[in-house]
Amino acid sequence: MNLYLSSLTDEQRIVDNFLSTRTELYNIEPIGIGTPYVESISSYISRIAENHNLAVSALLSKVIAPMLNIDYLKDQLSQGIIKDTSHFINENSPVTLEYCNALELLTSRDDLRSLTMLNWQGIFSKKLFSRYRKWCPICLNKMKSNSKIIYEPLIWYISEIKKCEVHEVVLHDKCSNCKRNLPFLHKDLMVGYCQYCGSWLGDKLVFNKKNLTEEDTFIYQNYKVLLANSSKQSIYPTRVFISNFLNRLMKKLDIKSVAKLANILELNPATVNSWVKGRRQPSSESLLKIARKIGLTIYEMIYDNNKKLVLEIKDSPSQQKSIPISEIENCLRKEVNSKEPKSLNKISKEYGFYVPTAKGNFPILCGEITENYNSYKAQKIRKRRIEIEEKLIDCLSKETPISLNQFSKDNGITLKTAKTVAPNLCKKVVKRYEEYIHELKRKRVQIIKREIKEIVNTLHQKGIYPSSNKVQENLENKHLFRKEWVKQAWKEALESLGYN
Ligand SMILES: [Zn+2]
Ligand SMILES: [Zn+2]
Repeated sequence: MNLYLSSLTDEQRIVDNFLSTRTELYNIEPIGIGTPYVESISSYISRIAENHNLAVSALLSKVIAPMLNIDYLKDQLSQGIIKDTSHFINENSPVTLEYCNALELLTSRDDLRSLTMLNWQGIFSKKLFSRYRKWCPICLNKMKSNSKIIYEPLIWYISEIKKCEVHEVVLHDKCSNCKRNLPFLHKDLMVGYCQYCGSWLGDKLVFNKKNLTEEDTFIYQNYKVLLANSSKQSIYPTRVFISNFLNRLMKKLDIKSVAKLANILELNPATVNSWVKGRRQPSSESLLKIARKIGLTIYEMIYDNNKKLVLEIKDSPSQQKSIPISEIENCLRKEVNSKEPKSLNKISKEYGFYVPTAKGNFPILCGEITENYNSYKAQKIRKRRIEIEEKLIDCLSKETPISLNQFSKDNGITLKTAKTVAPNLCKKVVKRYEEYIHELKRKRVQIIKREIKEIVNTLHQKGIYPSSNKVQENLENKHLFRKEWVKQAWKEALESLGYN
């Protein structure tokens, strides 16, 4: 009995346990990968610690520190010094990369970079994030009352994101109880709670309601698409991106001088020149300004070379080619028998004619093309549906259930598609995974209850009153005592020994 207790209080035992079993037992899935509301890595760290009944301080100093490569970081972290690195953990610094690498090794995952801005380091200079945690109190409350897992999405931490898009309230950055700012990392970090006074950060009463402006919406739109896609690309922009982009832009707009470009963008010519020459990087603010001016999102600036620039349309007249009517007929005849039918729109763009002209002169041919294309599309959709259904059935037969999110990621099928195509199968996958997680949780609760009983019994045998403080001292994760069922377990253990 004493042997058990002494080993229980030994942090190392839990750490060892973590290291030996992590991949089978604790493959905790980050929330929202592939969506705009992907979890931040600091939130993920907090949840890993909680799921292992490990304090964040122990997770950082005993588990993560030994995996780091940067010496000063390793030294600091193993001594429990967190403060210096806290600001950078979620963005795109070498520190961020260190944490990601360590956590990926520990959890056997390969997607944790998308919980940070690492993949977008080519386009953003630092200082993209605020220095402290920010949150929407209503969102947090909703997560809690819907019994969802509580987490803090990365998008909340971006400095330009100032309001919650859903509830249109200003994001909070101070604990309303102790009035302190909360750094991203802390030895007692716990998502949804203040790390200093332990207060719940959610709230249903909010006074600072502020409607989203058009600019807010544009900023949201930009970051949302970047975050949602940060796990999906095979190529990410590098530091030369902005220089290349501006040079391309000048060519497209037929602008000969940087001064004229700067004039169009309404930015300082010397600054624009330094970007064009690749000597400096624009701040996220300037980048958004450029995007807004030319009518694209940052994401489109990177990946969509074909998208027409608003400026281009405004400055140079449409370059639609015009071909003789007889040639239009030839094109249509050629395409009508194609094995991979295209839409009339696409064909018109490829050959350079106007759809109305084609329709007016060759209505039957155009009708046939549209019909072919529609049935080809329908056939493709049918095939895809069967494919998705088969994959879902296969997923349901696997021994370890996975979430629908994971399924979507593993198979490259978006959640929306899966749910539209096979709603019932999707529901089954969701239900099966929920039951599995529920069972895991149930087991964890049992273990903790047993531990509390052991601690109470041992203290009692030593002639010490097992007060809540004494029991907490012996528990690895002292935060657990915030939970009602933990307190209840302690009371029951007391009662079973005859205490009242
Ligand atoms: Zn909200
Ligand atoms: Zn507080």
